[in-house]
Amino acid sequence: MELHSTQLGEFDLIQRFFKKQSEAMLAKNPGSVSLGIGDDCALLKTEPNHEIAITSDMLVEGRHFFADTKPEYLGWKALAVNLSDLAAMGAQPIGFTLAIALPKADAAWLEAFSKGLFSIANTHACPLIGGDTTAGPLNICITAFGAIPVNKSIQRSGALAGDDIWVSGIVGDARLTLAALRHEITLPQNDLEIIQERMHEPKPRVELGIALRSAATSAIDVSDGLLGDLKHILKQSNKDAEVWLDQIPKSTTLLKQSKELQNRFAAAGGDDYELCFTAPTSKRDVIKQIGQDLKLPLTRIGTVKPRQNDSLNIALKHDDGELSPDQVNTMLQSFDHFA
Ligand code: ADP
Ligand code: MG
Repeated sequence: MELHSTQLGEFDLIQRFFKKQSEAMLAKNPGSVSLGIGDDCALLKTEPNHEIAITSDMLVEGRHFFADTKPEYLGWKALAVNLSDLAAMGAQPIGFTLAIALPKADAAWLEAFSKGLFSIANTHACPLIGGDTTAGPLNICITAFGAIPVNKSIQRSGALAGDDIWVSGIVGDARLTLAALRHEITLPQNDLEIIQERMHEPKPRVELGIALRSAATSAIDVSDGLLGDLKHILKQSNKDAEVWLDQIPKSTTLLKQSKELQNRFAAAGGDDYELCFTAPTSKRDVIKQIGQDLKLPLTRIGTVKPRQNDSLNIALKHDDGELSPDQVNTMLQSFDHFA
């Protein structure tokens, strides 16, 4: 595609902000990439007995981010959300493509965007291998590719009755940041500074996903809210669940808020990019060890139950009892873009 712009030509732009950095990465470690940016297609090598995991995520201005979001954060987050999907399947990232529409070819903006993008790309040795660049309202679409040994992918449909339900890290801080930025609540500047990284620069749990290949029965990354995403696992596994709200891991900043807000943001806030997964009780020690090795807290937050009837049921328990069905429904309404 052609980018109509007076500031900077399309090919100069690709060369300066994308191709150069990509070539530097591939020179160090070509991995599965036999041909990167510059031809009509990129070429990936597949290892014997591996499958390729493919995922796309789009970031749209006004919908997924504020117009004034720092471009460095956008570069980071656009790739992070895709790597998080690879993590949820247990895939090892091998490369990604970037389709981007830009209102104008602004060198300072592109410089910062590219910096954030390649910072996370380098962290996970996941090179940019191609894409498309066009003029238009700001829209960033990344497709990421990962490799998994055949029969080792972790799918949503594998949860078994009696399995533990786990979540990595802490949840709720991205939603808490959003609430502060939208002035729904007031947070001391100090607190905001500590937690806002969770919204702007989420850390996809790639190593965890890979480590869980032989331990987890199902997994999903938490993008739309912990309970809403758990619901996807339960639906596809045809199971019910019991979840202990007070066990859901929260930051000290979130724990300063009202109990109602704590539970709502942690259980249904979204944008966390942690992994929620299920595993048999016999794997508790293995999972604890994985958490220690990765220096990442892994917390048991509930149990998978056999399906009772046609409709999915999640019992939400807290220290003083159990939420009513109405309260559960409100909690379960995770983020829906067309709601
Ligand atoms: P075509 O017209 O054949 O689709 P383009 O002229 O759009 O090719 O792109 C030229 C090369 O630059 C291709 O290899 C393409 O993958 C790459 N490319 C274009 N835009 C981007 C981008 N935003 N990021 C990375 N690679 C890009
Ligand atoms: Mg093209």
